[in-house]
Amino acid sequence: MSIIKKKERGSLIVISGPSGVGKDTVVNEYVKTHDNAWISVSTTSRPMRPGDVEGETYNFVTTEEFERLIKEDYFLEYADYVDKYYGTPKKFINEKLEKGIDVFLVIEIQGAMKVKELIPDALFIFLLPPNLKTLKSRLKNRGTETKEKMIERFKAAYHEMNQVTKYNYVVISEELTETVKKIEAILISEKLRCDRIEEVYLNNEEEYMHEMLLEDKEMPNKILEVEE
Ligand code: 5GP
Repeated sequence: MSIIKKKERGSLIVISGPSGVGKDTVVNEYVKTHDNAWISVSTTSRPMRPGDVEGETYNFVTTEEFERLIKEDYFLEYADYVDKYYGTPKKFINEKLEKGIDVFLVIEIQGAMKVKELIPDALFIFLLPPNLKTLKSRLKNRGTETKEKMIERFKAAYHEMNQVTKYNYVVISEELTETVKKIEAILISEKLRCDRIEEVYLNNEEEYMHEMLLEDKEMPNKILEVEE
């Protein structure tokens, strides 16, 4: 039997970072290469972009539908980002965590801070680009936004990056495998935290160990004296 019993509940991991830093790529790669990890699919009122898949990248709804869902208390958190709604549906999250599955929320900072209020022991990780030039070219090469939208996103990114210290961990997202390894390291240490311990089974063993030591013939009665 193990000396301790730990909570087997999954971890809730919130990943934020500026548009274009590669959050989705990093989290998708992590989930592909690790068991027991799941990415929550958000709902949004933004239009679909090339590469988007309904129900996979997002659930796409109209602004009216989104506002109806807000009233129905459907979201764990939601935010208005560059004039569009984005929200995390409540359903499934607890169920997954209970089953020991790690749940990733890839969301912007306003939403992340709401999650922090609701679930302070969630893990908050911020991804930063190696520098602003890289961010600009990643955004540009994505080719999914007009110049005007790109400028808005760049401004939002600036504002977000200034608040990095509100997170528990910061990872510079440069090379994919390295970044995934860092996320893995954070999660490994998270699972080793003492506040996951539910029970320690040491107390009843003390007398037993004492007797075992007394009876152990191989143990010397006296410590050998060392000659100077
Ligand atoms: P994009 O339009 O590029 O897909 O997403 C814009 C921003 O919204 C990104 O920073 C993305 O992480 C964030 N986002 C995606 N889903 C959610 C969500 O459910 N809630 C919040 N607060 N932000 C989200």
